[in-house]
Amino acid sequence: MSTASAVLTEQLIAAHALPEEGYAQLIREHTEEDALRLRDEAVRLRRAIYGNAVYTRGLLEISNICKNDCLYCGIRRSNKKLERYRLRPDEILASAEKGHALGFRTFVLQGGEDGYYTDELLIPLIREMKARWPDSAVTLSLGERTDESYKALYEAGADRYLLRHETADAAHYARLHPADMSFENRMRCLQTLRETGYQVGCGMMVGSPFQTAEHLAKDLHFIKTFQPDMCGIGPFIPHKDTPFRDKSAGTLALTCFLLSVIRLIHPPVLLPATTALGTIHPRGRELGIASGANVVMPNLTPVRFREQYALYDNKICTGEEAAECRGCLEARMTSIGYEIVTDRGDVKGGHARREPT
Ligand code: SAH
Repeated sequence: MSTASAVLTEQLIAAHALPEEGYAQLIREHTEEDALRLRDEAVRLRRAIYGNAVYTRGLLEISNICKNDCLYCGIRRSNKKLERYRLRPDEILASAEKGHALGFRTFVLQGGEDGYYTDELLIPLIREMKARWPDSAVTLSLGERTDESYKALYEAGADRYLLRHETADAAHYARLHPADMSFENRMRCLQTLRETGYQVGCGMMVGSPFQTAEHLAKDLHFIKTFQPDMCGIGPFIPHKDTPFRDKSAGTLALTCFLLSVIRLIHPPVLLPATTALGTIHPRGRELGIASGANVVMPNLTPVRFREQYALYDNKICTGEEAAECRGCLEARMTSIGYEIVTDRGDVKGGHARREPT
């Protein structure tokens, strides 16, 4: 007699979906054996679509100045202990130049919601990047902006936008964010980004405070229906100067399990093995790839700023010895039989760029 979780596992493999309650039950009850079965199927699917290629994105942490006060995040505005920085356009271009020479063909500009980065500043910067490196994609991860801004930045040439939904449950969202931030607006931004033409990434933290299996089930159901081009998930890790300093971190096992499940429910998704996963376990990113992920995001930020972009404690790759993250990750991926490729790494079967009208 199969257990309920084994039945759900087979159902998920066969149908690439479960009813929402099915996800919650599987999250609660899965055995080691179920996790291995899902992992093997996730890897098989990923291999059928992407071979043994791992895509890479050069991450530029452009600013740790933020007007928001997310309770989990180390760069929240109430953290007075943090020394703040921002990169000017010429510094961003210089880092991207180095990255391009190293083989990066996607640049991710990520930062806090820093009013310095107006459309007037970003439009010429994006245009310049696309003119200098026409073979490369520009991804933005700059939080919530107006519809007009998203449209203007897309028309300037930005290809992709990462905006994690953080949690698909409105009440849970309200426990992770201050009252002036809204779940509805986050979701509206994701819809706008999709309609504007971007390849869009959503995602959530695993093990964030107050998170239940039901919340994660809602996240999975949202991912199944939204069909994002990218999906960023990583463990929550507490930061010492936030209200969640005493909360426990998300686990490696649950994160890897969810990576496999996400690959199964949406096979072509671009799924990173995140820096947070590499932070909670020395081989976290390798284990993430071996669970179904297919993207890594080496840090291209000038080393002197990396420690200051402290979303959580003990972030890896902040020292001089980590200056060249690409080589390190290349060796890590080769060690498990994968290959980092010099490629934009677009989603397979996704839409082509819609030219601005
Ligand atoms: N301001 C941008 C970028 C946020 S940083 C935005 O709003 O999209 C990127 C992601 O880091 C966040 O979306 C969040 O999911 C994650 N993050 C923040 N604090 C974290 C923590 N303490 N542990 C793990 N991940 C965290």
